[in-house]
Amino acid sequence: MTNAPATTAALSDYIVRAIADGYVFECSCGELYNTFALAKCCRKCRVYTKWETCTRVVNIETGETLYDMDAQYERWEQERIQREAAEQAARDEQARQAAAPFTMLDTCPALATILENK
Ligand SMILES: [Zn+2]
Repeated sequence: MTNAPATTAALSDYIVRAIADGYVFECSCGELYNTFALAKCCRKCRVYTKWETCTRVVNIETGETLYDMDAQYERWEQERIQREAAEQAARDEQARQAAAPFTMLDTCPALATILENK
C-alpha cells in the first residue's frame, strides 16, 4: 500500500477496508464517503452533530482537512449570543422607561428652566 497513512497507530479493520474501497472522506458525524461532495452534504450529520449540518470533512487516508467550518460556526454562535443579550438589554431599558412615572417635564422639558427662573 503506497498511500498508507503516516502514523504508527494501528488502524481498525473497518478503516483499512474503507480506505481500500475508496471511502476516505469522513464527515463531522464520522460517516465515510467515497466523494468529498457526498461527505460535505451528509444527511446523518443533521441528526448526529451539534450544528445539524456537516462542518468538517477529513481525508482519512492522508489526514488532510478538506473542509472546516467549525471555527466559523462557533463565531456565529458567539455573535448570536451577544446580539440576543444586547436585544434583551434594550427591551429591559424600554420596560424600565415605560414603568417610570409620567411628569409634566416629559411633555415640556423647557418647564424646568421656567420653574428655575421663577
Ligand atoms: Zn455526517
